[in-house]
Amino acid sequence: LLPMGLLVSTVLVGIVIWVSRQRLSPEKELAIAIRRREFVVHYQPIIDLSNGRCVAAEALLRWRRPDGRWIRPDLFIPLAEDTGLISPLTDLLIERVIEDQAELLRADRGLHISINISARDLESGRFLPVLSDAVARSGIEPSQIWIEATEQGFIRAEIAASAIKAARAAGHMVAIDDFGTGYSSLSLLQGLPLDALKIDKSFVEAIATDAATSVVTPHIIDMAHGLKLRIIAEGVETREQEAYLRAAGVPLAQGWLYSRALPAAEFAAFRQGRNAE
Ligand code: C2E
Ligand code: CA
Ligand code: CA
Ligand code: CA
Repeated sequence: LLPMGLLVSTVLVGIVIWVSRQRLSPEKELAIAIRRREFVVHYQPIIDLSNGRCVAAEALLRWRRPDGRWIRPDLFIPLAEDTGLISPLTDLLIERVIEDQAELLRADRGLHISINISARDLESGRFLPVLSDAVARSGIEPSQIWIEATEQGFIRAEIAASAIKAARAAGHMVAIDDFGTGYSSLSLLQGLPLDALKIDKSFVEAIATDAATSVVTPHIIDMAHGLKLRIIAEGVETREQEAYLRAAGVPLAQGWLYSRALPAAEFAAFRQGRNAE
């Protein structure tokens, strides 16, 4: 009897230890977090370089764990993209942005919020009816929501072109994000019905240095002008970079020189202070 009891209790203890060591897979954890809506959106101001006013913000997702830890989007967005969880995450993003910003957007038709749409979203096209519905219900203008799509979204060019056309037909401005960091060719860019181009911060960093990329930056700007694309420069950190961009005819900029991404209420206060000057 004794050895049998020992065996049973050993097995039981073993099971308890095994269960306690089983961590949920990252994918499972993310799926649960989406269901529990553990995400907030922070807003990074976008500045009109001609007058210094805040005319827009980029919506950036933040995962806030129940234990209070914050998880950066570069850690969970790629996982969401690989597992198909990006679609419910994008739905949640749209819902949060409208919830946070509808009042401000209705009060100021000159204000815009830019949202990031993944390649997977662009291909499935499912985000657009969700967005259109949310926009219509909230009484804001479709033109007040901008869409940022990364170059990866454009690799399958025909799909991308029709998704971009549909988004523009619904009234949104569409920008290519992180331009120059991916694989997109100039011919691809030329064939897409885009409105704007975001210069990646690596090209802004290179301004006024002798890095090889600093040679490329003026060409990106020239090319965007040539293609009649609006330009938004990201990662602007110094007055020197700002002055360069303004002189080069870049109309819009965002970066730590102006502000980091802020919670909704702090963004509203930032904008009010900035535009009252
Ligand atoms: P991104 O679209 O290139 O976003 C800009 C990133 O640069 C943000 O990082 C922002 O905080 C950071 N940044 C802005 N200004 C400066 C600056 O002056 N200096 C420096 N060093 N960094 C600056 P964040 O918020 O960590 O976002 C990382 C990436 O996560 C984003 O890169 C975007 O690709 C992705 N992401 C964020 N939110 C979403 C979302 O809602 N949906 C999707 N699909 N992707 C998102
Ligand atoms: Ca972006
Ligand atoms: Ca970007
Ligand atoms: Ca970037």
